[in-house]
Amino acid sequence: MSYFKNAGKPFVIAGPCSAESQEQILETATALKTMQIQLFRAGVWKPRTRPGSFEGNGEQALEWLQEVQERYQLPVGVEVAEPAHIELALKYGISVLWIGARTTVNPFQVQKLADALRGVKVPVMVKNPVNPDTDLWLGGIERIERADVQEVAAIHRGFSSYKGSSAYRNQPNWAIPVELKRRRRDLAIICDPSHITGRRDKVAEVAQKAMDMHFDGLMIETHPNPDEAWSDAAQQITPQALQTLLLELVIRQQYS
Ligand code: PEP
Ligand code: MN
Repeated sequence: MSYFKNAGKPFVIAGPCSAESQEQILETATALKTMQIQLFRAGVWKPRTRPGSFEGNGEQALEWLQEVQERYQLPVGVEVAEPAHIELALKYGISVLWIGARTTVNPFQVQKLADALRGVKVPVMVKNPVNPDTDLWLGGIERIERADVQEVAAIHRGFSSYKGSSAYRNQPNWAIPVELKRRRRDLAIICDPSHITGRRDKVAEVAQKAMDMHFDGLMIETHPNPDEAWSDAAQQITPQALQTLLLELVIRQQYS
């Protein structure tokens, strides 16, 4: 049985880009608990492009996320980029781990994470590398699969482009996730419209496109006060906007 594949409805992951404070985490989780969310997300270690901005609250944030899991019975997922992150996340009972786009580009680092994950029965999601390379993405997925974790899923979050050359922050290059789906029909694939678009007014249209293409799920950044967010402010949506988005999504049954 797949952790990520729901018959007929998307596996929905929501929560803020970054865990900023205990209040922000609990406020978001309270709002999301009433919706059909399968997994709460929050970044604890943030891979910022340039130094000098918020890089995450680290271990302290794991305490807040543990509270979300215990108080709301809502599983939590975090990004891990170092073996030490894996050790800490597991110490706080985090349910799901994911590998970010800037880590998937580096096979040495992915292998270090795979070695640290050996035999650990957690679901792990692997974001596509920032560059448009299906084999590199698949290679990251295979390294984690060989570690014998519970299950591996793919997250499509778009591909870097020179600024201004794409309508979105990261180009979707839909042919790449389609190729991945064709080569690995068994694999769950989740779309991240937040990091693809980089702007909240476009999140719904990309989420719908992913549903039309029979993706298995969505990861959507959600913040109680998006304009004040400490990272990715332009693309986060409120829990209320997420509820509207989910209600308006048209889900077509997969026939293949
Ligand atoms: C994130 O999910 O907040 C994140 C940093 O994503 P990505 O690795 O896709 O840039
Ligand atoms: Mn983000």
